[in-house]
Amino acid sequence: MPATKFKSPFAPPTPVEASGPVPQPRHNPNAPYAILLPRPPRNHPRVIKGCGNKRSPGDIGLVDVVIDPVLGQHLRPHQKEGVQFLYECVMQMKNFHGQGAILADEMGLGKTLQTITLIWTLLKQSPYYGEESCVIKKALIVCPASLIKNWQKEFKKWLGIERLRVFAVDSKSTMTDFTLGKIYPVMIIGYEKLRTVQDELVNTNFDIIVCDEGHRLKTSNIKTAQVIRSFSTMRRIILSGTPIQNDLGELFSMIDFVNPGLFENYSSFKRVFEDPIVKSRQPDCSSSDALLGLERYLTRLTNQFILRRTAQVSYEFLPRKSEFVIFCRPSPLQCAMYRHILDSPYLQNCFSMESSRYLACITVLRKLCNSPKLVLEQAKVSNRHALFQDKSRKLSFVEALLKSIKRNTTERVVLVSNFTQTLDLLEGICTRYHFSFFRLDGSTPTSKRQEYVDKFNAPNCRKFVFLLSAKSGGLGLNLIGASRLIMFDIDWNPSVDLQAMARIYRDGQTRPVYIYRLLSSGTIEEKIYQRQLTKVGLCDSLMDGKTSEKLNKFSIEELKDLFTFHEDEPCLTHTLLGCDCHTVAFPHSPKSKGTGRTQQVSKNGTMSKTSTSFAKKELEEWTHLNIELCRSFALETEVFNDSEILMDINRYINGLADKDKILWFSISDDERDDTNNNRTIVKDDVCLDSTVAFVFLRVW
Ligand SMILES: [Zn+2]
Repeated sequence: MPATKFKSPFAPPTPVEASGPVPQPRHNPNAPYAILLPRPPRNHPRVIKGCGNKRSPGDIGLVDVVIDPVLGQHLRPHQKEGVQFLYECVMQMKNFHGQGAILADEMGLGKTLQTITLIWTLLKQSPYYGEESCVIKKALIVCPASLIKNWQKEFKKWLGIERLRVFAVDSKSTMTDFTLGKIYPVMIIGYEKLRTVQDELVNTNFDIIVCDEGHRLKTSNIKTAQVIRSFSTMRRIILSGTPIQNDLGELFSMIDFVNPGLFENYSSFKRVFEDPIVKSRQPDCSSSDALLGLERYLTRLTNQFILRRTAQVSYEFLPRKSEFVIFCRPSPLQCAMYRHILDSPYLQNCFSMESSRYLACITVLRKLCNSPKLVLEQAKVSNRHALFQDKSRKLSFVEALLKSIKRNTTERVVLVSNFTQTLDLLEGICTRYHFSFFRLDGSTPTSKRQEYVDKFNAPNCRKFVFLLSAKSGGLGLNLIGASRLIMFDIDWNPSVDLQAMARIYRDGQTRPVYIYRLLSSGTIEEKIYQRQLTKVGLCDSLMDGKTSEKLNKFSIEELKDLFTFHEDEPCLTHTLLGCDCHTVAFPHSPKSKGTGRTQQVSKNGTMSKTSTSFAKKELEEWTHLNIELCRSFALETEVFNDSEILMDINRYINGLADKDKILWFSISDDERDDTNNNRTIVKDDVCLDSTVAFVFLRVW
């Protein structure tokens, strides 16, 4: 029975008192951010061995190991737990025979930081006072070649280059720089490369080995796994972001890699665990209870050295997030221009033409949704035209929203667009209203980028707005100085948008976060949004330079749909969902039903059945608000003077205001005189400005 390889449970750790001067930990355990790691227990093999070996019990002095506050101050609770878990595994303080561990946290939980913290701690400290000053001298990190730079960057980010030098192996590296010198305690190397330099590393003693994306060891890197096994250290850690307990074969090979011999071999592992478990999952299994017990038993054993947390733990430590998708009706000028472009012979002919044509048309329509001015300028329409004065509804809304945020809060705002010319317009708003700002786009010199970001995030920063081009700034760009973010337009690729929204909703954010995504009703923007929702992802790479190839995949039908303008829809997406929440006079929640006025809509968009159900599932958790309906209903009831219904509406809108007062300030008429501090959202006459037609909202 493999279980015999597990130890009996330990007694609770008891510090062993040392005679003579009390050894001092490297870092003050009482300092702020200090994290104390557990001591090896009295019955730990090494403590016992030390005591039995011509030493009196007091001589094997133990000293506290304290995580360096330089790192400790950045660790979130689940990361502290993770570091302690890894530490106990590699220090043989857990209930199994082995020194290996598998950290299988979901992406984004900081596996890298947890690993760096462990390595740094082991490089600088040991609990065995007088025996050794550190647990490890050299560490090896093996990862896919594409991640080498990232590891290097992370080490630099958390520890700087003075504390620790890492040897990141590229094609030009000379192994002797590492093997002969003492400058580098850490080597980072790709899986393939490790195989080719195996011979040069024979005499190098690595004291710990970390395999990033270690689940790959089974399939494509069996040879590399053999190389790693040939190193003498038993401290082996696998990092993996994918769930692993679904495939027992893979699980076995990972366990056998980090803790070899724990289970004799795969066939005995399989005999004991896999076959019965697989059988127990069959619907006709008779003795499923017993087998379920066995499965739990396996989990209990593997929990000793496998740790997996989902992104859920991360959200628990972040403040509330409210996300609004705001549908703005295009202005009359925008509508007229939109129709004109769709009717143009150029576009009408493009269905049979090469993709560059409709790509151009798509871009023109997207720009038009942002502002007619962008298209007029490009078309070289003479500027004396009064048309240039037309603001898009989205711009009017941003203007109102910014003013409202400025007036009513001390918060700051990130303003994101995919188009540089649109950023110019947004910058224009900032200038007009004297909103101070930073701007970061493709033309910002690299040297200035970090400077703007750092200045903006500083607590005393007085810049109100950060204008950001969606694709500038790279993955790590952090703008937590702001707690509100406006996405002025939408990208084909959902991950571009998600990345933009994550700029303010991430570690270190302390305020509740508000995200506003703006879309023009009935236009191509809504269609892009629907594609995002249904994860059709057909244009995922549209903006990554593979445009024509991808775009060729549009069917004629899809193209025709993209180029259909649903001028009368306050929210086409909602209509296509077939959601009946607005069959009531005004909505309470997405699922409320009742009698009353039915909104007349024509279903003339195309979203396949599957897509609709996908989107429906996604949007069901959101609250759907037909602002336009509220508005027109309120006006009607005013005529009929039905005070009871009016009060219902007031109560309803005021309830919404709890979600974000600032937003409802700006949806209601923001221009009016506000000398009265007791402004209420809904005046007696329910005055709602006409910029916003529909809102989806979700609060985390
Ligand atoms: Zn609905």
